[in-house]
Amino acid sequence: MKYYSTNHKTSPVALAEAVKKGLAPDKGLYMPEKIARLPEKFFENIGDLNFHDIATTVATAFFGEDIPAGDLKKIVCDTLSFDTPVVNVHDNIFSLELFHGPTLAFKDVGGRFMARMLSYFIRQNGSRRKVTVIVATSGDTGSAVANGFLGVEGIDVIVLYPEGKVSEIQEKQFTTLGRNITALEIAGNFDDCQRLVKSAFMDKELNGMLTLTSANSINVARFLPQAFYYFNAFAQLQRKGVAKNVVFCVPSGNFGNITAGLIALKMGLPVKRFIAANNRNDVFLEYLQTGVYTPRASVQTIANAMDVGDPSNFARVMDLYGNSVEAVRKDISGCRYTDEDIRQTIAEVYDKYGYILDPHGACGYQGLADNLRPDETGIFLETAHPAKFKDTVESILGKDMEIPAKLQEFMKGEKKSIRMSADFEDFKDYLKTRA
Ligand SMILES: *Cc1c(COP(=O)(O)O)cnc(C)c1O
Repeated sequence: MKYYSTNHKTSPVALAEAVKKGLAPDKGLYMPEKIARLPEKFFENIGDLNFHDIATTVATAFFGEDIPAGDLKKIVCDTLSFDTPVVNVHDNIFSLELFHGPTLAFKDVGGRFMARMLSYFIRQNGSRRKVTVIVATSGDTGSAVANGFLGVEGIDVIVLYPEGKVSEIQEKQFTTLGRNITALEIAGNFDDCQRLVKSAFMDKELNGMLTLTSANSINVARFLPQAFYYFNAFAQLQRKGVAKNVVFCVPSGNFGNITAGLIALKMGLPVKRFIAANNRNDVFLEYLQTGVYTPRASVQTIANAMDVGDPSNFARVMDLYGNSVEAVRKDISGCRYTDEDIRQTIAEVYDKYGYILDPHGACGYQGLADNLRPDETGIFLETAHPAKFKDTVESILGKDMEIPAKLQEFMKGEKKSIRMSADFEDFKDYLKTRA
C-alpha cells in the first residue's frame, strides 16, 4: 500500500520509504491510501480474541500487502510484550492503562513497533550499512524510542536532549542503556536539539556517509500501531458487558494518540464519540469552538507531554475530515484543564476512589466526569504511570507513592552521556566518527 502526504505536493511512497523518511519531502505527514473497514463479525466476537490476535488483524489491514503474515505477526507480538488493561475507576468511567510497557508510557507501543518494522526493512534490503536513528527529546520520546530500539540489530540510536531540562527519571531511561544507544547532552534547550537533528538530515556530506533516519512521533510506524489498544480496550469492555455507547477521552498534545483512535473508528470500531482533553495549550478546543485554527507558542504545565501549541497531527485530523469543522465536531468534542484543575482531580479521585492518576490521565478522567451521559461508557487513556511524575503527584497527594520495580531498575543504572555544545559543527564532527 502507498502512503500519501497530507500536503499532496509529492508522489505517494511505499511503506518502507514512509517509515525511513518520517516526514514527507513537502513537509506533510504520511497517510495510508486505504483505511479498510473490518467486517462486522470481527467486532461481534472481538471479546473472544486476545490482544495479539486483535492487533495482528488491525496491523494486517495496513501492512499486510507489504510484510508477509508471519513476519508481521512476529513484529506485532514482540512489540506487545505487555498488556493494556481496562480498569473500572467508578460507575461508568474506565481507565485504559497504557503504562505497563518498559518505560511506563503509551509511547512504548509506537516506539517498539517502529524499531521492529525498521529492522525488518533493513534486513529485507540486504544492506550491510547500519542505520542511524537520531531523535531529539524533551523527555518521554527519548526513553520510548531508545528502549524500543535497544539491542535491535543494524540500528544505532543517538538521543539528543537538553542538559538539565529533563527529569532525573526520564534521563535515566535513556542514558543508562548502553549497547546501541548513545545519549548526547546538549548545552541548550529542546529547540536546539531539534535544530541539530534537522540540520543533520539536510547535510549532504553526512547523508553520504551515514544512513540517517528519524524516529519522530509523526512516523507512520509509530503512529498507526496506537490504534491496536483502542480495539483491545473495546474487547475488554465487551467482556465486561458494557461495550455500548463507548466514549474515548484522550489526553492530547501532538494529537497522534487520538488520531489513531479516529483511524480505528474509520475501520469500524463501534465508538460513539471522542473527547480531546487539553491542558492550557488548547488550540484544538479553540478550533472546535471557532472553526479557526491558530497555532501559538506552548505554555508550560504540569502535564508537560501535552505542552504543544501547534499539534503536528492536526494535519491528519483535517485530512480525515476533509477540512470540515462540522464533520470534526460530529465525532470529537474538547475540554481544557488548568494546573489547578489537574491537581484537584488527582486529589479527588484518589480520595474518593483510591485511584492514582498522572497529570495527563487526570485531564482524560475529568473530561469524562464533566461530559459523560448516564447511558454512555467512558474510557480515558491513562497515558503514563503516575510515578513518572513522582514529585508532582506526591505533592498533591501529600504522601509518598510506590515506585514500580521497572522504574527503580532505571534509577539504579549509571548515567552515561556525551556532553556537547549546541553548535552544528560539533554534532556533525561527532556523527562522522560514527560512520
Ligand atoms: C506524548 C504524551 C501525551 C500526548 O500524546 P499525543 O499523541 O502527542 O497527543 C500524553 N500523555 C503522555 C504521558 C505523553 O507522553
